[in-house]
Amino acid sequence: MALVDLDFPEQLERFGVDTALECFNCGTCAAICPLIHEHFPRKIIRYAQLGAKDRILQESDELWRCLHCGLCTYTCPREADPGELILGLRRYVIAKWRGRADV
Ligand code: SF4
Ligand code: SF4
Repeated sequence: MALVDLDFPEQLERFGVDTALECFNCGTCAAICPLIHEHFPRKIIRYAQLGAKDRILQESDELWRCLHCGLCTYTCPREADPGELILGLRRYVIAKWRGRADV
């Protein structure tokens, strides 16, 4: 498996995510997130931008920590909608688990 796949942000559109490249990695979402857990969700969004799919799959349990409170989306200065990004990444991971994702 390739370590990165720069086409992945575009491929995520089929999972309902079209804002991954809007993120400029500022960390506001990680600072506001009540979970306060290892740069979540900034880090996993960075993985999505780079197409680090192996990391997303290996660390996918982090995606289910999200409470979907919306604070990250509300404060993101780039309107990258990190809350929705997480939901899209969950859809991607589930599709991979079920063998229904060819990306
Ligand atoms: S998703 Fe928004 S708040 Fe989070 S790191 Fe990216 S630009 Fe910053
Ligand atoms: S929606 Fe999820 S990632 Fe965003 S601030 Fe809330 S718990 Fe954290």
